[in-house]
Amino acid sequence: MRILVTNDDGIDAPGLCSLAEAAAKYGEVRIVAPDRERSACGHSMTMRDPLRVATVDWPGFKAYAVSGLPVDCVNVGIQVAWEGQCDLVLSGINAGPNLGFDVTYSGTAAAAMEAAINGVRGIAVSMAGFVSGAPIHFETGANWMGENLGALVTVPLGPLTFLNVNIPNVEPVEIRGMRVAPMGQRIYEERLEFREDPWGRPYYWQGGVQVLTSDQPGTDVAVVSQQFVSVTPVSVDWTSHAELDALKKALHA
Ligand code: MN
Repeated sequence: MRILVTNDDGIDAPGLCSLAEAAAKYGEVRIVAPDRERSACGHSMTMRDPLRVATVDWPGFKAYAVSGLPVDCVNVGIQVAWEGQCDLVLSGINAGPNLGFDVTYSGTAAAAMEAAINGVRGIAVSMAGFVSGAPIHFETGANWMGENLGALVTVPLGPLTFLNVNIPNVEPVEIRGMRVAPMGQRIYEERLEFREDPWGRPYYWQGGVQVLTSDQPGTDVAVVSQQFVSVTPVSVDWTSHAELDALKKALHA
């Protein structure tokens, strides 16, 4: 199997190394990642600047750093690093959760989405650690992916669909299992934090403190909080099919 490994935390991120090593049990790995951290860039694509691709010295793997975003890395990875012959794109392991609607902000998930758009299976992998500054158990993620990647690759999946995997940030033995789960909700309070610079000029930091996890049982948010790995199929087709008929009736009249 020809595997492209990318991320949004950048070429130097420890989670990238963990994922590449877990994937290597299943095939040949090539790494193409942003040359610096590009988290929360969503499905952005570089169109007004050139993409520079630098070879990176990485024992055991061909690796490249790209002066762009995760989506750019997937396209460079498939077309250049794998010369169009890529079977699987893995994105991560992200240093933080990508649960619920946060997936829309996620560069990690966007890389897997770009793979699906290219007709290649894409899997986004994140460590769901919620405490800022706490150590991240990438060994748990690598261990779990090493054991379960075969199943994730062979499970039937429709076109234009990718898998979003969140792994609880605990010791490997504390993982209780896997649950296929729909997207839940994470609720934030005051996304903008007001500050003043040393000259008294106002500015804002955007991030937001999560105040409430979803109490909808069975969602990705809920199962991860119960120390299960969540696996969510995500469709690139954002059409709300449930609304189509009612909308046609209302607007075609
Ligand atoms: Mn990230």
